[in-house]
Amino acid sequence: MILKILGNNGPYPAPGGACSGYLLQSDSGDTRILIDCGPGVLSRMMAEDCLDTLDAVVLSHLHYDHMSDMLPMQYALQLNPRKKPLPVYAPEEPEHVAGLLRCPYYDLWPAEDVTVGEMRISFTAARHPVPTNAVGVTCDGKRFVFTGDTNEDTMVELFCNGASLLLADSGFARADHSFTKPHMSAELCGKLAAKAGAKRLLLTHLNPKYDPKALLAEAQEHFPASELAELGGIYYI
Ligand SMILES: [Zn+2]
Ligand SMILES: [Zn+2]
Repeated sequence: MILKILGNNGPYPAPGGACSGYLLQSDSGDTRILIDCGPGVLSRMMAEDCLDTLDAVVLSHLHYDHMSDMLPMQYALQLNPRKKPLPVYAPEEPEHVAGLLRCPYYDLWPAEDVTVGEMRISFTAARHPVPTNAVGVTCDGKRFVFTGDTNEDTMVELFCNGASLLLADSGFARADHSFTKPHMSAELCGKLAAKAGAKRLLLTHLNPKYDPKALLAEAQEHFPASELAELGGIYYI
C-alpha cells in the first residue's frame, strides 16, 4: 500500500498546515480510500485529482478536526458529479454532526468491518469523548493501523498488534498527559508501537503548540524507528 499524508495536525492546523487526512492506495492503484477529512484536506485532495475515483471515505470520528472538509466536499461533488455517491463509513454520533453528512453525494454506512476493493477495513472502539474508532486496513499482504484519537486502551493495543505501519495519535507531550486526557502522548505512542510489535511508527495529530522534534524524541526513547508523519509525505507499506 501507499500512504500519503494530507493532514497531520490536531485539533487545529498549524500555519499552512492541515488536520487529520490520510490517502491510502493499494499497490495496483485500483483501490483508494481517504481516512479522515479535517480542515485543509480537501484542498490537498483536489491536488491529487482523485475525488471521482475515490472508493470510500472512512471517518475515525466526528470531531471537526477529522471531518470538517466533508462539508465543502459536497459542493465539489455537486459540481463534479461522480457516477455513484461516495461511500462514507463513520460513527453515527454525535447526531448533530452526523446530520451534516446526509446529502445526495454521500452513501453513509456505519463503521463496521467491510471490504472495499482490495482492502479489508476493520474498526475497534477507541477511548475518546465521542464514539471513535481505530481503523485497520489489510491489503497487499500488509496491515496498516491508524489509532484514531485515543488515550491508552487495551483493545486498541490488541488491535495494533503486528501492524506493518502504525499511525498514532500523539496529541500530547509527556508533561501534559494524564490517564483522563483524550489523546495519547508521543511517549505512549512509542510504547504502543514497541508492545504491538509494529514495524514502523508515524506520529500524527501534531498539536501546533509543540515542537514536533521534541515529540519525536519522546517516542524514540521507546521505539527508535519512530518518525513524524510529514505533511505531503509518502510512505510505502
Ligand atoms: Zn482530533
Ligand atoms: Zn477527537
